[in-house]
Formats: sequence, structure tokens, C-alpha cells
Amino acid sequence: METEGVIKFELRMIEDETISGDHPQVAELLLIRQEMHKLAWIGVDREQIGYGNASVRIPGTGILITGTQTGHLRVLEEEHLALVTNWKYGLDDSFSITYSGKCKPSSESITHAAIYDAHPEVQAVLHLHHSEWWILRQRIGPYTPHNISYGTSVMASAVAQLLTNEAVYKKGILAMGGHAGGILGWGASAEIALMNLIDIFRRDGFQP
Ligand SMILES: [Zn+2]
Repeated sequence: METEGVIKFELRMIEDETISGDHPQVAELLLIRQEMHKLAWIGVDREQIGYGNASVRIPGTGILITGTQTGHLRVLEEEHLALVTNWKYGLDDSFSITYSGKCKPSSESITHAAIYDAHPEVQAVLHLHHSEWWILRQRIGPYTPHNISYGTSVMASAVAQLLTNEAVYKKGILAMGGHAGGILGWGASAEIALMNLIDIFRRDGFQP
């Protein structure tokens, strides 16, 4: 059984510094992440393993993402974020992430990176878990194959591949077939991405 909390990629830390609140995107990320936690789209499962994460693009610098194993916290602070400044993935299994911050980046950073790489207009990526919604993934749209698990370079490539479909990109959501409960959303800001997800969630018959 896959375990969300396990980091599968090679991590290189460059500075053990708390992320500076100078980036205007910091407050937005913390706020939207708090909303996702309220919806239980981010949290901890029965085994107390954290799930779900959120990120924003810091133009010219990289990706600011919520830290791994922070799902139990209702409110995050800057110290719970990691700034991913470099990433590499391909179709083989080798890939790496370079980051700074006091917290290790989420284990799904590479999938977020693939979405930012695929479309320069994307400014935020949200990853939530919802079992009942995920069961309806065919209704949501094309999803990644069931044999591809979370946090792998193969998943990142599969997501990038799906995003080459303009209709998928415009919808702003996809499910991860091989990652039970896993759904990804993106948009021109974290707020836009969240509102879009909530709209689709409602349309699919759920109450936020
Ligand atoms: Zn996940």
C-alpha cells in the first residue's frame, strides 16, 4: 500500500532558512491552504499520515509549497513552507528537488512542478484528497493511469502529458488514477484554483 508521507525523491537542501514573508504569494498560500484544511481536503488519515498540499509559483525563483507532514496543523506558518528552486524529472526513475526552508517540501512537489512547467500561466497548484469525489473521476475527466503511484517522476510525466490536452488544462482539475483520493487543481491564482475546484465539487453533487 502506498504511503503518502514517504518522500521518494532525492532532496537537496541549500539553506536552512524560514521562507521570507516578503513574497506576496506567502499570505495567499497560507490562507488557501487553511481553507482546504477546513474542507478536510488537506488533513491526516486514520494512521495520522498527512495528505494534500498546496503551492504557488514565485516568478523567477521557483515554487513555494507546503511542507511534508503538516496535514495535522489547522494553520500553517512560514516555517511550514519550502521554496523549491530546482527540479529535474524524466521518464526514468531518477529525479531531484532542490529547496530551501525549515520544512521539507511535500512529497508531491515533482507533480506540482510538472504542472508549472506545462503552462506558464499557472500560478498555483492544489492537491486534495476526497475518496467519494475521486470515485467519480471519470466524470471529472481524463485521469492518470492506475499503475502510476504518487510522488514519482512517472506521475509527473503523466500529468504533464494530460496537460498538453487544452481541454484538460482549461478545466483546471484532474484525478490521479493510481493515487487513491488524489485530485489536482490549478489556476491563475490559488484563490481562482480553489474556487474552480469548489464549483466542480458542487456540480458533482457534494456540499463544501
Ligand atoms: Zn496525495
